[in-house]
Amino acid sequence: MSFEKLGVIKQLLSAIKDLGYEKPTTVQSRAIPLVLAKSDVFATAQTGTGKTAAFGLPMLQRLRNVTPQARVLRGLIIAPTRELSIQIYEDLRGYAKNMTLNIAVLVGGKDLESQQKILKEGVDIVIATPGRIMEHIDKGLNVSNIEIFVLDEADRMLDMGFMKEIRKIHPLLPKRHQTLLFSATYSDKVRKLSKLILRKPEFIETSKKNSTVDAINQVAYMVDTEKKAPLLAYIIGSRNFRQVLVFTRTKASADELVLELKKDGLKCGIIHGDKTQANRLKTLNEFKEGKTKVLVATDIASRGLDIEELPFVINYELPSVPEDYVHRVGRTGRAGREGMAISLIDVYEKHDIRDIERLIGMKIPQETIEGFEPDPNVRRRDQDEVKLKSEHKKAEVKRIRKAYVKPDKNKKETSYKKPVTTKKRKTTKRG
Ligand code: AMP
Repeated sequence: MSFEKLGVIKQLLSAIKDLGYEKPTTVQSRAIPLVLAKSDVFATAQTGTGKTAAFGLPMLQRLRNVTPQARVLRGLIIAPTRELSIQIYEDLRGYAKNMTLNIAVLVGGKDLESQQKILKEGVDIVIATPGRIMEHIDKGLNVSNIEIFVLDEADRMLDMGFMKEIRKIHPLLPKRHQTLLFSATYSDKVRKLSKLILRKPEFIETSKKNSTVDAINQVAYMVDTEKKAPLLAYIIGSRNFRQVLVFTRTKASADELVLELKKDGLKCGIIHGDKTQANRLKTLNEFKEGKTKVLVATDIASRGLDIEELPFVINYELPSVPEDYVHRVGRTGRAGREGMAISLIDVYEKHDIRDIERLIGMKIPQETIEGFEPDPNVRRRDQDEVKLKSEHKKAEVKRIRKAYVKPDKNKKETSYKKPVTTKKRKTTKRG
């Protein structure tokens, strides 16, 4: 199958040829004809599958006819993070280079007034984060002429609590519009959202539910917590990794890790929620340009990072939400290239890796590296601690069960009253 056969027009064909796209990826082959036929689409496609062009190319094609004197906003793409929004904007600008469409990106961290000025000059397509688009709508941005509405990485958007914003935007759109919903995973939340916003959608499932991209080799190295940083430096050094993206669970451990790696002489960049937008972009660009070898990031930054041919991703710590593993490793093996995802696992993360394996439906091989094998004594001490924790949990469950109010058979209004419990989970401040 070729892009031409899918019905893609000449202006777009020459632009993607310049980008080196030779043939469509699976999600592109399936989505492009459906979007051109004006169908609503629900696609589960992970980052790296070429999903941006899957919705971007037909969207540009559908909206290509412009009346320059009377431009109205006809295309709206919502993405969960600033980085992803900017990435989509850059991709679309590349695809639309032979067209007269005006495209704008509206994200936080930039002043509202200058964005309003751009909007006033006439824009055909906007890419925005949910919070920022709501601010513009509150200030009078008209979305009543939208013809195509795209929600990218919808699962992430819902995880980040943006359902409220989507519920507010949706009724403001015209009755007849096309909606494209893209999500890496197929959660209940996403399914509910799809029921709310899609009309007779066509479904595209490009990979197994929550499966990781096939081209990615995955391995877990068992190691003690305090040996993780030296092991990471060893892996990067001994295998001569040119560039590697490293994920931590929290901002604090990202900061600590960078200090450790710098001691080993590794040039590192860091991206997490406490960094300003300008700083994150600068760091990302330095990494893309090869000025830094290691980019340490928290999950908030894992979306929207599009780095060409990134062969390695390392999970220094597993994410607290198993779905984030899929997003993290999706940074490598993009567009069918080979990739490798390495996870460094300590004894406390054994449960987490099991949860991930259940989600992705496959076993991740667990290995050790000579000189970094977990110390059995440390392990025993840790296991005792883990056991103690689980004993504590058992007691807690007993206490909760006891606290259930037994129904009184003689009373009319009888029901079990569920005591209010707070979910006991490792709570770490997330990036
Ligand atoms: P995405 O999943 O949209 O983030 O795309 C992942 C990467 O694949 C980006 O660097 C795209 O530029 C690239 N890409 C998308 N479609 C194709 C294609 N048909 N051929 C080659 N590369 C592509």
